[in-house]
Amino acid sequence: MCEVTKKQVMELAQGKLDELVQLVSDLIQIPSENPIGSQREVIDFVKKYLAESQIPCEEVGGNPDFPCVVAKIGQEDGFSVILNGHVDVVPAGDREQWEFDPFSGEITEKEILGRGTSDMKAGVAGILFAMRMLTESGAKLNGNIRLHIVSDEESGGEYGTKWLSENGYAENADACLVAEPTSHNTIEIGQKGKVELIFKSHGVSAHGSLAGYKGENAILKLMKVLEHVDMFRQIEGRYSGSQIKALENSKIIANQKNGAGTGEVIDHVSANVGMITGGVRPNMVPDYCEATLDLRLPIGVGPEEIEECAKAIIDKSGVSGVEYDMDFQAYGNATDINAPIVEAIKKHAENLWKTEVLPAYQWASSDAREYRLKGIPTIQYGPSNTVGIHSYNETVDIEDVKNAGQIYIRSLCDLMGIK
Ligand SMILES: [Zn+2]
Repeated sequence: MCEVTKKQVMELAQGKLDELVQLVSDLIQIPSENPIGSQREVIDFVKKYLAESQIPCEEVGGNPDFPCVVAKIGQEDGFSVILNGHVDVVPAGDREQWEFDPFSGEITEKEILGRGTSDMKAGVAGILFAMRMLTESGAKLNGNIRLHIVSDEESGGEYGTKWLSENGYAENADACLVAEPTSHNTIEIGQKGKVELIFKSHGVSAHGSLAGYKGENAILKLMKVLEHVDMFRQIEGRYSGSQIKALENSKIIANQKNGAGTGEVIDHVSANVGMITGGVRPNMVPDYCEATLDLRLPIGVGPEEIEECAKAIIDKSGVSGVEYDMDFQAYGNATDINAPIVEAIKKHAENLWKTEVLPAYQWASSDAREYRLKGIPTIQYGPSNTVGIHSYNETVDIEDVKNAGQIYIRSLCDLMGIK
């Protein structure tokens, strides 16, 4: 018997691309808002789709409200790829702001409409479709593909990818594709680290009518400290070897997406003073005030440098009675630009889109970290119309959905040795 070829798999898939579009629409019609909604219906839908595709699957997880679905096709030995996606979506919010029903899943001439189209039910549909096409084709996989569908990503993520990774589901994988929205011309291969830092200012209380004569105003002291938070932004990342090329790409993509000059965000610490609280009443000199900062760390920068800088900022402000608390959450992390999963997706995306596709680092962070922590080369690549993500009027282009589905299948054929 002849082995099924890549060409045959692709012919099968190309004949069913409308089914992929319908699958996105079906997923959109299940409102899996997180927080607020339940993940039960969308998880049951995924299980039903896999069962209909003759793919055995299992529901697992650490919290019944946020289940995961895992599945595996292929053989035990050989190259092992994880496909990851989340089915929860951020709430639709104020319906008045929407030009269409966020959960209609309407398919127009060019787009699919609704909450979760780009983030990331189109990506989820793409990887489910890829699993189904590879199974239906009967192609022999020289390795295996594991599916990780999670329902806790948009509010914490503790019971999603982190849980799967901590409970052994990612062991011994050789590559991972997270189908989060990127844009067709970039593959995310790295991300920044994160620290939450709180500056705490202590003063001396007094009657407000005596302010300036008695007491010590904790709010005014903290203001002096916050004047210098730009010092964090001077800290630069450290890159070597093939990371230099990825850094160049990242600046091009950041400038493209966020406007000229924003490329610097990639290799510098970013610092956002996001919250401030202090004082009790207008007629009291406040004896306490605190401000919380969200700091994102470029590759190569660790918590020690942030701590040193926090001390230097307090010194420079010249005030006493100010301390800090630091919650270090993650190092920046990256996958090699020459990893097989990066090269496969790049090659097929460039062939299909007829444009250069740049592997790059993102300025934020995501679940991809959990797999990279385990040493698994991990990328993000998925269909996306950036405008509506975590906002109103979210959409995805049909062309983007169909191309991503094909890029996934072609890349998986390469990684699974299907000629
Ligand atoms: Zn997402």
